[in-house]
Amino acid sequence: MNLVTYISKYLPASLRSKRFLLDQKHFDLTSFKGDVSEWMQKYPVSEENAEIHLALAELFRRRGEFDKAVAVHEAIASANLAGYKEEELLLEMAQDYYAAGILGHAEVLLEKVLQTAGEEHSKIAFRLWLSILEREQEWGKAIALVEQFGQPGSGGIRLVNLYCEYALELKRQGDVAQLAKVLKKARRLTLGVRASLMSAELATAQNRLKESIKFYRDVLIRDPLRSDIVLPALKHLSHMTKSQEALSDFLKGLYQTQPSVRILEALIELNIDMSAHYWAAEIEHHAKQGRSKKVFDHWLDGVGSIENEAKFVIGELVHSRSLVRFDRQKCYQCGFQTDQLIWQCPQCDGWETLYSRYELKISRQTSKQR
Ligand SMILES: [Zn+2]
Repeated sequence: MNLVTYISKYLPASLRSKRFLLDQKHFDLTSFKGDVSEWMQKYPVSEENAEIHLALAELFRRRGEFDKAVAVHEAIASANLAGYKEEELLLEMAQDYYAAGILGHAEVLLEKVLQTAGEEHSKIAFRLWLSILEREQEWGKAIALVEQFGQPGSGGIRLVNLYCEYALELKRQGDVAQLAKVLKKARRLTLGVRASLMSAELATAQNRLKESIKFYRDVLIRDPLRSDIVLPALKHLSHMTKSQEALSDFLKGLYQTQPSVRILEALIELNIDMSAHYWAAEIEHHAKQGRSKKVFDHWLDGVGSIENEAKFVIGELVHSRSLVRFDRQKCYQCGFQTDQLIWQCPQCDGWETLYSRYELKISRQTSKQR
């Protein structure tokens, strides 16, 4: 036995080259270059060689020769062999089409599998079909699929975001009545914050400002790390409805769970009595870390014992050094980063997993202290 044969004998099956016994000779699949229709005429699908045909189809799919992969799978399916279930072969063909980007064909097959197959194959078909619909941005169809075939309780955050994507589409079409209905359905799942955020935007657009404030607050109560998105809107709305005082009370409470400099800034803007000892200490703490010029300036203004010239020099120094706001968005699941606010991570496909890096950092520090 030579070394190569010896090693290959102990390799896992998936890494070994595919060799089959055919006509008393070994047929090496990895080097197959022949004409597939000629080959299939010579060796029609039978119980003895079906495994070779399956492996051949897989090889074609990997090589990107999808039409050949489908042809072989079809031949196996129509041979009606014992031990080779139709639903398995339909799934294989659907994956051929999916890999080839012929998504419509894949969908037809997957629908058939979902309606007729047992649990195991239905699950695979469901997952594949859902990712096809997401890729095609067919949100209405994707929702219908999850509602009809999804496991209750699982993947809820995904369903919420399917509703939200569908709502965006309705917004573009100007179908406000349907939009409100879809958002209501999404909110009922009480997962993530995106549905509340979109509801707040809709309420603002329809001049239902108090309702909008309620939705925005709901976002922060359930996920204080979202203050980077929510605070600008809340500040604006409280100004419009003259409810600054109520907002500052709310933010003071929120600051306990998320001591973010953004919240502090909002409190300053709302004209809270900053001479209070507690807040002064907080500002000093944040300013020393160079987190925000606005916070630092405010603190500096309040320190009477420093001369104006010295104040100016210190201010410039802080300004030139570390006024980084960590405003990039980061996925807490896989670490992907972007400058845009997006709701699905392109790297790990997670929904609502991207947050402001700064808010994430603060929240980690607080949870460590606890
Ligand atoms: Zn990710």
